[in-house]
Amino acid sequence: MTHVSRPGRLVLLGHPVSHSLSPLLHGAALASAGLDIEYEAIDVAPARLEHEIRALVADGAAGNATIPHKEALAGLCDRLTPTAGLAEAVNVWWVEDGELVGDNTDVAGFHALARRVLGCPPGCERVALIGAGGAAAAVLTAVGDWPESRVRVFNRDPARARRLCARYPDVARAETVIEEALAGATMVVNATPIGLLDEGFPVAVERIPERAAVIDLVYRQGDTPFVRAARERGHRAGDGLAMLVEQAALSFQRWFGREPNRQAMWAAVT
Ligand code: NAP
Repeated sequence: MTHVSRPGRLVLLGHPVSHSLSPLLHGAALASAGLDIEYEAIDVAPARLEHEIRALVADGAAGNATIPHKEALAGLCDRLTPTAGLAEAVNVWWVEDGELVGDNTDVAGFHALARRVLGCPPGCERVALIGAGGAAAAVLTAVGDWPESRVRVFNRDPARARRLCARYPDVARAETVIEEALAGATMVVNATPIGLLDEGFPVAVERIPERAAVIDLVYRQGDTPFVRAARERGHRAGDGLAMLVEQAALSFQRWFGREPNRQAMWAAVT
């Protein structure tokens, strides 16, 4: 029988810009469950990650990881879930039978976001994916489970797109011209930070096929400029907030073995 140590501390390892909403989400889930545990976000230099995670494990902690640590943490875990192994990235970690275990709930988070935007379970999708970093890998891992679905990946650095697609040969193909990625797309996904701190678009909305759903992994208060512009043109569209909430809810489930109050989590960030 496995023994998951109930964490005495919850820690997000990351970068200040990317983790601003997580303490709010987890604070709401913990308060609603009556758990007197603090969720703290700490900045860790990449060179200190291994030292820091060992110290946290010894201290009875569990937690999340975000940019820029998700890939490096996967290499430090004693065990990865199959999903984290496929994505080669860890966004949630805990201690089980004395071992550091890493999972990737961004994948299920993206699935929940796609389902929400489409209004039904995804299937037979032709996805145009812009970006080829860690978030793009989570998208490809999720789409790999969708029936009859394929992805064309466009990235600023084409070699990175080719490397990513080589990990998902049954699902993904790299394109060097964005029009090729967009041709026939039923879903367009932004997996770059464009629109996070600026008013930029990953692609002009006029170039998106008429009936395609538009998903922006970026989130910010009042929708991203890309999502607003896509909706104005009549596309079904949604930003990354639903993905963020779901990956956090599933993190809570990994740590405590029960469902969090998702309503309270949504209320904390909307
Ligand atoms: P990452 O690993 O650093 O990858 C960033 C990707 O964006 C790379 O493909 C990079 O292209 C591309 N890029 C960066 N700046 C660009 C620009 N100005 N123009 C064109 N392409 C650009 O980051 P990540 O972990 O994949 O995260 C990407 C974004 O997804 C984050 O900013 C975050 O907002 C969002 N995200 C959201 C959630 C959620 O829960 N909603 C979860 C994870 C990530 P190059 O390879 O050419 O550098």
